Amino acid sequence: MVKKINKQTMPILPLRDVVVYPNMVVPLFVGRTKSIKSLEDAMNNNNKTIMLVTQLSADVNDPSASELYEIGCTATILQLLKLPDGTMKVLVEGLTRSRVIRIKEHDEILYADCEEIIESKKLSDIQQDALSRALENTFNQYVKLNKKIPPEVLSSIAGIEDLSKLSDSIAAHMTLRLEEKQKVLEYIDTKDRVEYLITSMESELDVLQVEKKIRGRVKQQMEKSQREYYLNEQMKAIQKELGEIGDEPNDLDSLEKKIQSVGLSSEAKEKVMTEFNKFKMMSPMSAEATVVRNYIDTVIGLPWTKKTEVNSDIGHAGQILDDDHHGLEKVKERILEYLAVTKRVDKLRGPILCLVGPPGVGKTSLGQSIAKATNRKFIKMSLGGVRDEAEIRGHRRTYIGSMPGKVIQNLAKAKQKNPLFLLDEIDKMAMDFRGDPSSALLEVLDPEQNFAFNDHYLEVDFDLSDVMFIATANSMDSIPAPLLDRMEIIRLPGYTEDEKTDIAKKYLISKQYEQNGLKKKELLINTASIRDIIRYYTREAGVRGLDRAISKVCRKVVKSILMKNNSSSPTKITPSNLSDYLGVKPYSYGVIDKKDMIGQVNGLAWTSVGGELLRIECALMSGKGKVEQTGSLGDVMLESIKAAITVVRTRAVSLGIDTEFHQNKDIHIHVPEGATPKDGPSAGISMALAVASSLSNIPVRSDVAMTGEITLRGEVLEIGGLKEKLLAALRGGIKEVIIPKDNEKDLVEIPDNVKKSLKIHPVKFVDEVFAIALKNKPVKSKPVKKTASEDNKKNKTSPKILPH
Ligand code: ADP
Repeated sequence: MVKKINKQTMPILPLRDVVVYPNMVVPLFVGRTKSIKSLEDAMNNNNKTIMLVTQLSADVNDPSASELYEIGCTATILQLLKLPDGTMKVLVEGLTRSRVIRIKEHDEILYADCEEIIESKKLSDIQQDALSRALENTFNQYVKLNKKIPPEVLSSIAGIEDLSKLSDSIAAHMTLRLEEKQKVLEYIDTKDRVEYLITSMESELDVLQVEKKIRGRVKQQMEKSQREYYLNEQMKAIQKELGEIGDEPNDLDSLEKKIQSVGLSSEAKEKVMTEFNKFKMMSPMSAEATVVRNYIDTVIGLPWTKKTEVNSDIGHAGQILDDDHHGLEKVKERILEYLAVTKRVDKLRGPILCLVGPPGVGKTSLGQSIAKATNRKFIKMSLGGVRDEAEIRGHRRTYIGSMPGKVIQNLAKAKQKNPLFLLDEIDKMAMDFRGDPSSALLEVLDPEQNFAFNDHYLEVDFDLSDVMFIATANSMDSIPAPLLDRMEIIRLPGYTEDEKTDIAKKYLISKQYEQNGLKKKELLINTASIRDIIRYYTREAGVRGLDRAISKVCRKVVKSILMKNNSSSPTKITPSNLSDYLGVKPYSYGVIDKKDMIGQVNGLAWTSVGGELLRIECALMSGKGKVEQTGSLGDVMLESIKAAITVVRTRAVSLGIDTEFHQNKDIHIHVPEGATPKDGPSAGISMALAVASSLSNIPVRSDVAMTGEITLRGEVLEIGGLKEKLLAALRGGIKEVIIPKDNEKDLVEIPDNVKKSLKIHPVKFVDEVFAIALKNKPVKSKPVKKTASEDNKKNKTSPKILPH
């Protein structure tokens, strides 16, 4: 309840952005003429009292009655000071809350008829105590968190006992908006006013608390990085003092100079400069800075412009190829043709050369020779086991520990833009869920695309068109077709015994002498021992094992010379003392099995490591016509077994065998060395022969080996890898070889000494195979019609394993 007393008329002083409460002493600066006049009037005619009313909007210069709040505060002027610029500084003390009833203007002065407002309801002492304690406590916390209020304020309000006074003083110190301040003035009821203040302080406290927490965290982080920076700087200073690091010129400057001078493409320069600018802003020790620095170093470390001068003299290249490699005439010629074309068109166009052949036939060393001949840097890039596209094309920089792919890494290693890249074992590349590396490689090899090769890590294009690519593979079967399409295949089939001997005499021995520090007169290895090494200590198409064996001999000789301390007489290696140096002979040379056996045939296989003799065995048992196959045979081989059996059935009469064998005999075909998977159709005729031999009980000649695919009509079809197979037959001591008639044309490529040592039978039908390889001529039988009872009788006989 509000009781009105004391009506008065007095001049008004409009306040722009302040609210004055009773008992508050406030200095005010007054500049407006109307206000100055009001003050003067109050001083002269109104007992120094004035009505302070706040404007609704601070922007209004000459407020009318409606632009002023209704409730204000009467005040006494304590002091008035005229300032030299005509304005006034006035010190006022608030008296009572008052309401403006009417406003009138007289002589440019606003006068208010106002009445004092006094709270009628009195609070009990307990209520007063409780409220003032709560108000003080909240204000205490508020001051502690709010940095804008000086802590002395707390002591100044401590002595105020009157709750209304206390609340007004606290409100004066709080950071409140103008409307809120006015609201405090308008709360006549002290209890309401106190409650309003406590609520607004508490909500402010929540905000301040969160603010404090955030400030604390930010400060902690800043302190940590500042501390690290400071310690690093100190460490640097200590190192400098100890002389560990020199007083280098500014690292950033030299980096920038390098970026500008290494000949980056404009795209790369722009990208690197953006990264460089980012790098400059970073703390040099942060993890992020290391990543950016690595990137910049990688890009500027690439050979953007550096090249070696390419030697395109074909005569010189031919000379180097001849000096480094024995034989391989066709291969060398094809390489020279390739070099000649690149010289003419002045560009590395056209298909990429791909050298295909078993291990140790000189693919890598041919690559090295080409590099030497053309004066390019030789880089071997192994693709064996590469299954991830990212290995070729790199990882995006968003990955932790990302790197450029193999191509870019190797170029950085080469330091030249035009090296020779040997893509080793291109057939051993695999594909899985991480993407197909061969498609990335396609882009590398394609001259239409590779001038702008995009590595994921690098993010900018790099020109690969100056790089010469040569690929190697053991077999063509597993090279992805699109890659194969872009390559020209050059086959290196493997060496004959004579070729191997020549290579050893001319190249390998002298190389091993040099590598082991032997002089020529200290060791003599004669031709017969080389031949024995080839025959008894190696079984290979290339010469790697031979090279290793010679190196072993050299090592042993060096050791014995040093132990005996006597190098007067040369050590002579002969077939008789060879085992002293190389140990027990691991292989035998000659016929695998000298005895002619029933159901046992020498097939010839062609694997990625060269040709091989493949023994095929067939056993018969009484049964119900089941066919069993063992020895890790692939699908194609299983099918050719079925075809072979059918072929034999169609020739049952001429072979003199039981025409019903498919009903009363179980056939088991086995190809030993079960651990090695075998596949391919070229064992067709060997299978047919093994089955025919078993059924006819006629042994197969052990000095004959054969290869050929078979059709259901018994035709013998063409096969691949003839040279490798013939070499394997020769190595195995075979005398006669049966080959398909269609392969006769390939014989021109077979060295004469091979042809001389082997009797080669080109055949068109499997019957010729039987005629050549079966030891005796089969006796024709007449097909006999058997009765059902006979059949049953036969089936009841106990199984009998036929002779083997
Ligand atoms: P690949 O790469 O085919 O597996 P390498 O190139 O590694 O084989 O050859 C193995 C070794 O055999 C090398 O030391 C190489 O010099 C030698 N070699 C192979 N073929 C010949 C050859 N025709 N003339 C001279 N050395 C050869």
